[in-house]
Amino acid sequence: MVLPDAASHRSRHEAIVTAIERALRGVEDRLARFHRSAVAKVRPDEDLLGFGGHGSSEFGAWYEERKENPPLDQPAFESLVALHEALLNHLALLAERAWKTEKVPVEEYDALLEKVSGFRDLALRLSKAFQAAISDIDPLTGAQTRQVMQRDLKREVIRVKRSGTPACIALADIDHFKSINDTYGHGVGDQVLAAVSSSLIDNLRPYDSVYRYGGEEFLICLPDTGPEEARRVLERVRSRIAKEVFATQDGEEVALTVSFGVTLLNPRRPIPELVERADKALYIAKEDGRNRVVVWRPESRSETGGEA
Ligand code: GH3
Ligand code: MG
Ligand code: MG
Repeated sequence: MVLPDAASHRSRHEAIVTAIERALRGVEDRLARFHRSAVAKVRPDEDLLGFGGHGSSEFGAWYEERKENPPLDQPAFESLVALHEALLNHLALLAERAWKTEKVPVEEYDALLEKVSGFRDLALRLSKAFQAAISDIDPLTGAQTRQVMQRDLKREVIRVKRSGTPACIALADIDHFKSINDTYGHGVGDQVLAAVSSSLIDNLRPYDSVYRYGGEEFLICLPDTGPEEARRVLERVRSRIAKEVFATQDGEEVALTVSFGVTLLNPRRPIPELVERADKALYIAKEDGRNRVVVWRPESRSETGGEA
């Protein structure tokens, strides 16, 4: 894996917000030019006419390039694009007729305005959602922030209480990260941090969450998961990261490992105490040689291992 540009997650979200805002301005601009041509009976600009205006629009081209990749590969975005397409086609139809003929049926004009407001509503909703997502994401690693973690953990404890299905949390800490900084420099250290965060997110299940807990520590929340399953899931993640070779932009190869401390989200204990349990288990993982997953036990001593 080539080390990613730090902050690429956040900038991807920012680019989406910008693209949605541009698409909105594009629609307003076309609508204004359509009105000008319809009122003054002058030939509309070429780009307002003909089917397929979406495909040749800036927004259309932008979407086409990225539609297969998350987070654009979701139904809400498909709806936005479908609305944009239908709106521009409808506008082209009316633009063609409005400047030539005396009258366009009012229902057809109203239907156009309805499409415009439908597009505007959805665009604003999506833009807001992506803006909120930006502030929920740690800019360096793309993991969620500690603030989001606090909110989510409270919810998860309530869910465990109500449903009775277990959940686990884990602390993940990069082994000897200081020496990575010392050997390759802080810049590569930052990239490694972002890469480890991506590995955690990519190798966990879609319903698991990864938060940046502090410097080079991540908190992972595993809903609907007992300690044994949590250990299995994290063991898989641990071994994948241990096998991965992270390559810097200059072609230098960085190998690294991560240690994990896991605990059951016991709804009868306060959240800080649960995090402390995960931290104790992590401490044992470090003491026992690092690159391993340790599950907290009341009498806490050792658990599973990887190659030390
Ligand atoms: P251990 O295996 O015991 O965890 O060893 P370690 O070297 O990873 O642990 P230690 O806590 O001594 O060092 C953590 C280092 O992480 C020190 C700090 O400079 C570095 N660090 C924390 N946050 C960042 C960051 O955002 N970027 C970079 N590049 N380094 C960071
Ligand atoms: Mg640490
Ligand atoms: Mg560390």
